[in-house]
Amino acid sequence: MSKTEDSFVSLGLNPNIIDVLHDFGYKKPLPIQTQCIPYLLSGHDVLGMAHTGSGKTAAFILPLLHNINIHDIFTQGLIVAPTRELAIQIGKVCINFSKYMKNISSVILYGGQSYNIQLNALRKNPHIIICTPGRLIDHLNRGTVNLSKLKTLIIDEADEMLRMGFLEDMEYIIKNIPIQRQTALFSATLPISVRKISHKFMRNPKEIYITENTKMCSDIRQNYWLVRGIAKHEALMRFLETEDFDAAIVFVKTKNTTLEISKILEQFGYNSAALNGDMDQKIRYQTVNRLICGTLDILIATDIAARGLDINRVSLVINYDIPMNSDSYIHRIGRTGRAGRIGKSLLFVERKEYNLLRNIERKIHLNIPEIKHPSSKDLITCRLNKFSKKIAHQLHISNDLEIYRSLLTHIKPTKDLTIENLAAVLLKMAQGNRPLVFSSNLNSENKTIQITQKIKKYKKHTITSISNKSAKIKLKPKINGHMMDIYHISLGSDDGVKKHHIIKVLSNKYYNIHYNKIGNIQLFPDYAIFELNKGLLNNKNFKRLSRARILNKPINLKFLGT
Ligand code: AMP
Repeated sequence: MSKTEDSFVSLGLNPNIIDVLHDFGYKKPLPIQTQCIPYLLSGHDVLGMAHTGSGKTAAFILPLLHNINIHDIFTQGLIVAPTRELAIQIGKVCINFSKYMKNISSVILYGGQSYNIQLNALRKNPHIIICTPGRLIDHLNRGTVNLSKLKTLIIDEADEMLRMGFLEDMEYIIKNIPIQRQTALFSATLPISVRKISHKFMRNPKEIYITENTKMCSDIRQNYWLVRGIAKHEALMRFLETEDFDAAIVFVKTKNTTLEISKILEQFGYNSAALNGDMDQKIRYQTVNRLICGTLDILIATDIAARGLDINRVSLVINYDIPMNSDSYIHRIGRTGRAGRIGKSLLFVERKEYNLLRNIERKIHLNIPEIKHPSSKDLITCRLNKFSKKIAHQLHISNDLEIYRSLLTHIKPTKDLTIENLAAVLLKMAQGNRPLVFSSNLNSENKTIQITQKIKKYKKHTITSISNKSAKIKLKPKINGHMMDIYHISLGSDDGVKKHHIIKVLSNKYYNIHYNKIGNIQLFPDYAIFELNKGLLNNKNFKRLSRARILNKPINLKFLGT
């Protein structure tokens, strides 16, 4: 007896199921399975809270399959899920796990698919129905589905299903199935309101909690990036380019943004596509399949469209727009790090969204570390590395380079073009919309480095000068004979800030700074530096000014030196 058989057998599962688990390489039950399967096999109601990716689908499908009586030709099990994608996914798992169970039948019912296919399957009274609520209600109203002898109801993503919007549908479905039944509810989160509702239609459910932070810590590396310095879409491209990932899902707030971002990414040669609820069902299905089989690498999706997607290739989740609540965050990052694999999640946070970040951290009992966006230098290094790896690979696999070499003389547009120049042109052409170097950004980042070094030098000089009284007199007065204090604010031209905004704030009567006491102002993409007459800001005024905002963003004032 193999190890798989050993551990799953002890749960009491049918040998045909054990065989299929062996095929799938499942070595031992995951915690949610160990805890739920025995209760579900013995007919108990179960309320299971486990994060996505924890193996909860198998936790309810395996005992459901085990309990089906193949000789009873009526629907015995009903699984309801909030989205078509999730219903299809569960349906596939059901088919896979019943591979060795002859004559077991199941059907997936979801909106967007032709009624004929579904009607044909329903006429045969399938043992198991997997569905979205809307299409099931259609069939109930048409009298084309018979749930009068249903034995087990399973609700996946219960937090979503029992919220306003879906709740009415669920109540309607529950009214149309037998009272005497087994009910199982699974969800990544269980808010108190949902828990209360669930108890109304369950009988003494066994509650199973698999804590999410064990998984969060081990399987998913989480970071956040504070939106500053460069625009969000620019940062997105930089992260996508420098992160090592197989497939990625980028979560955005609106359907329009899915289209906007996928268009931008496509323009820059990324293999990406949008996924949102407005898209035709067939296209959504094809898009998800392309991600599964590797012909698509990046999906730009809304929460609802990507709910429950289980794609092992997804090793990176980017929260381009921060989710409005921590539950959505948990759902989103659960799309990666599936079944013990390592995943990575990045969260873009704007300053005004700090409280949402803190809520998420509280919920997952973790501090999410901040990271900087990749600099232009990082990007160039990464592009050059990738490019030279590509060349080395081509060199390694090509055995017809001689032919190309002989063609070189024919395609030289001018006779006097050197081979180096030709190679450079071809390099540029091959790189397309993503240049290997970008002069403007480089300049601005070099400037940033220069100014920081200047300030450091300046401060060092000042400190030594102050400690050495005789040297103090060597400090040069800067403006109109005045020594100047240097201040830094963390807003810059990328935040839309102009010099006049800074002058306006400083000369606000509240801070009482006369404009002729303001010295140089230098604007950089993500910060600005200005000078004020030495000693002009006392402690009280400094505190007041540090609370100021420009374009409704806090300025984060810092004193750099004199
Ligand atoms: P789920 O949480 O149901 O979406 O499952 C997440 C992933 O875990 C899926 O890819 C399953 O194939 C995988 N999985 C489920 N149970 C096991 C197990 N016992 N051993 C290994 N992988 C599993």
